[in-house]
Amino acid sequence: MSIVFLNGQFIPENEARISPMDRGFLFGEGLYESIPTYSGKIIGAKLHLDRLNFGLDALQIPHPMSHAEWVELFNEILQRNEGDNLGIYVHVTRGVSQKRFHGYMSDTAPTVFIRTFSINAPLEAGAEPLQVAKVLSQEDRRWDHCNIKSTSLLGNVLHFQHSHQQGYDETLLFNEHNELTEASSANVFVVKGEVISTPVLDKQILPGITRDILIQVLQRFAGITVEERAISMDEVKNADEIWLTSSTREIMPVIELDDHPVGNGAIGNVWRKVQPLYATHKFDI
Ligand code: PMP
Repeated sequence: MSIVFLNGQFIPENEARISPMDRGFLFGEGLYESIPTYSGKIIGAKLHLDRLNFGLDALQIPHPMSHAEWVELFNEILQRNEGDNLGIYVHVTRGVSQKRFHGYMSDTAPTVFIRTFSINAPLEAGAEPLQVAKVLSQEDRRWDHCNIKSTSLLGNVLHFQHSHQQGYDETLLFNEHNELTEASSANVFVVKGEVISTPVLDKQILPGITRDILIQVLQRFAGITVEERAISMDEVKNADEIWLTSSTREIMPVIELDDHPVGNGAIGNVWRKVQPLYATHKFDI
């Protein structure tokens, strides 16, 4: 039975338990390293730990321990597990919070998990490779699937925390063409005069259910067509109203953007017209 390290204890792997409230599980807020060892000798320990610390700093996760303490743990887990050629898998998450909230919480301590796994024996200098590869090519689309409601929310969490830690409530996001996409945890609508617009659905935004219900309610019960189209940053900055929509917020008026009032800085007239429609008909869709 392989022995793993979890939060200060060496235990059999089948006894290891992590809370479902761990932010690694909930948000994908975690980092890992896979470190090869041969006959107890670790390859690139400092480089792996420097990269881990870089990620920890980027995510504002406290360092669980020093380089020397990590290496001591690595040596101990190698001794507790059989095998000459072992990889060491290290996984650190932000830890467990009481509440599921995109912003960082003060009640978390990092979760640290380490296990070993068998790796191939090292290739002798000049030997033939054990394996060769056949590959396909594809456009690099990593972090480019915002239309999937995935729990890999690290990118969203980083954007949410950007505004949260400065005392704001959300971050509006723009693509490389300075077009509005969405907020880190909500869809966005803008109003100019009587015209209500929202970014068109594509891989850049989550197809929000509240967005969908609102569009349908306005069409069916008030004959109002929401324009689904590209919305420039200028339009957002000059909008009379901006709303955030999500299942928990419903339609939330935004009164300030980048420290400037949206419209006249008060809740807008179009919101006041639309909110009762939504409230009345949201169960009808
Ligand atoms: N966009 C993102 C990135 C979100 O996280 C959410 C809320 N989960 C939304 C939009 C709104 O979606 P819904 O209306 O389905 O709650």
